[in-house]
Amino acid sequence: MSLKLDGKKLSLEIEEKLKKDIESNINLTKRPPGLAVIRIGEDPASGVYVKNKERACSRVGIKSFIYHLKDTVEQKEVEQLINKLNTADDIDGMLLQLPIPMKFDEQRLISKINPDKDVDGLNEQNIGKLVKNEPAMRSCTPAGIVNLLRSQNIKIEGKKIVVIGRSLLVGKPLSLMLLNLNGTVTMTHSKTINLNKICQEADILIAAAGKPNLIDSSFVKEGAVIVDVGIHRLTSSDKSKTRLCGDVLLEDVITKVFAYTPVPGGVGPMTVTMLLVNTIFSWQKKFVLSSTLENLLP
Ligand code: NAP
Repeated sequence: MSLKLDGKKLSLEIEEKLKKDIESNINLTKRPPGLAVIRIGEDPASGVYVKNKERACSRVGIKSFIYHLKDTVEQKEVEQLINKLNTADDIDGMLLQLPIPMKFDEQRLISKINPDKDVDGLNEQNIGKLVKNEPAMRSCTPAGIVNLLRSQNIKIEGKKIVVIGRSLLVGKPLSLMLLNLNGTVTMTHSKTINLNKICQEADILIAAAGKPNLIDSSFVKEGAVIVDVGIHRLTSSDKSKTRLCGDVLLEDVITKVFAYTPVPGGVGPMTVTMLLVNTIFSWQKKFVLSSTLENLLP
């Protein structure tokens, strides 16, 4: 039987540790870690993601500050808010919930975030440090995936790893993290020729294309590890029911693989947990507290 890489279970275990970390230091710091989330506009999925982050913060004892801005605000006003939060004493981490409406210059906003508070790890300074394999905030989804693999002692060094997708949010930072851990990484994308054949070589196959059920058993080597990053809500033909699925047609690959991540309950919960880790790490750094979280930041 293949092994389920249970992100939900692991994230609860890490959360327990984080909660204790905060409890044991709060007498010294006199305030909890603080996370600011900036949301612009009314994208419904963003609303759900922000709520999940808020709930996760309160489970472990992080204070969250939600700034929900109307899409009529100007770029300049968002930049002013970021500047204010950059120097706010009670804020250790800050993120801009993506996607934001097209009229904003997303990269410019991200580049304004203080790199020490950039808990999404998307600021160019943190990306640059990842390229150089230096310690820094790491992007949450890729860091969550690495921790999920490590938690089951899945070896990365020397393995052939194929990453499908080259986005700034997932594919690129993940490929760099796996490369830094001595994997032999192939990054693929929508213009890749013979994707199927390339994937068949992978010891570890990571699907982050954002295409429902793209990967069936013909892409997968016997005994491979498969990580499904995609998350999609599919509606039945009569529109009466919805269900979540990933980029991988799990029922087709499950008997062939050594290990797999489920959707939901795989990569998703780990992403939120890594956001908590980054926020607490920044808080610990600010108060010069000793930390046991470094090993969670690949
Ligand atoms: P994205 O920005 O749309 O990037 C998708 C990437 O996949 C692009 O590089 C694209 O190639 C590539 N691609 C698209 N179709 C392909 C195909 N048929 N074959 C090979 N490559 C293909 O998406 P993203 O932000 O990276 O997210 C990817 C998926 O992960 C989405 O379903 C998203 O919802 C999910 N996600 C989940 C979590 C989580 O916590 N579970 C977090 C983040 C994202 P080009 O560069 O050539 O266009």
